[in-house]
Amino acid sequence: EAKSLGKSSYHFYTKALNDATRLRIQMESELAKAIDKQELELVFQPKVNSKSMELVGFEALLRWHNDTLGFVSPANFIPLAEQSNLILKIGSWVIEQAAEFVSQQNKKVPVSINLSAKQFESGKVTSELKAIIEQYGIKPSLLEVEITESSLMTDVEDAIRQLYSIQALGVGISIDDFGTGYSSLAYIKRFPVETLKIDRSFIKDIPDDESDMEITAAIIAMSQKLGLEVIAEGAETQAQVDYLAQNGCYLIQGYFYSKPLSAADAHAWQPNKEQN
Ligand code: C2E
Ligand code: MG
Ligand code: MG
Ligand code: MG
Repeated sequence: EAKSLGKSSYHFYTKALNDATRLRIQMESELAKAIDKQELELVFQPKVNSKSMELVGFEALLRWHNDTLGFVSPANFIPLAEQSNLILKIGSWVIEQAAEFVSQQNKKVPVSINLSAKQFESGKVTSELKAIIEQYGIKPSLLEVEITESSLMTDVEDAIRQLYSIQALGVGISIDDFGTGYSSLAYIKRFPVETLKIDRSFIKDIPDDESDMEITAAIIAMSQKLGLEVIAEGAETQAQVDYLAQNGCYLIQGYFYSKPLSAADAHAWQPNKEQN
């Protein structure tokens, strides 16, 4: 009796595993073809200064729509792309598309792209950025890179060298998802970064979660002491924007102002001055 139960649960287990593995393999093989099949798109989320109500930049975010898999979230396919090194090809595509967007916009605000640790480890990202900037004839300061703390920690000395070479190009550098990673403040001081992006997890429960509010205020104060820009990710409400402003953070990226937009919509987008 116990034996047959064990056997059927074993079959159940391997079947579930096989389904997950099959889906992963299918996703990976579809993702490998996604660029050529033109299934990838960059969308652009506005960054706004809540005090002046000016557009100050955009973040470029990847979208993937596949005929059989439907819409797949970057939270699912980016890790897969990282495991399979496809992220290198996809990452190059992102850099080029962002440069094209910059070359087509008349607003002259910077556009940030997300870099994965793998791109960093490849050691080629500086030369790619340089080549694309030249090819599109754009101002380097209109491109920025967003890097998470954790992705800099594999080889800190090498990361610092690469960040300095990216900075030397004139490309801006932000630390993404700040507060969720594993770096120490000692490192932040050594990285040539201009901006800290406060992670959405600290913003989303303002004004209900007192400790999130304290952490957010502390990150803002620390940024100011270190002479860094600070921007809050994921602000959705007036109360959140107000709390951030009261604590000296005016740069906001979040649904309160806009969701990510297609390139065409982003080119036409303007802040609504009445939201001030
Ligand atoms: P991220 O870089 O931290 O990007 C911010 C995420 O927060 C985006 O999710 C954005 O749509 C979402 N967001 C912004 N404001 C709000 C808000 O008010 N409310 C809510 N609920 N969400 C908000 P998305 O586009 O799904 O991207 C998720 C993550 O995938 C990104 O987090 C980034 O880590 C990664 N990713 C996206 N595009 C790329 C890319 O081109 N390359 C790499 N390496 N990673 C990317
Ligand atoms: Mg980002
Ligand atoms: Mg982030
Ligand atoms: Mg994130």
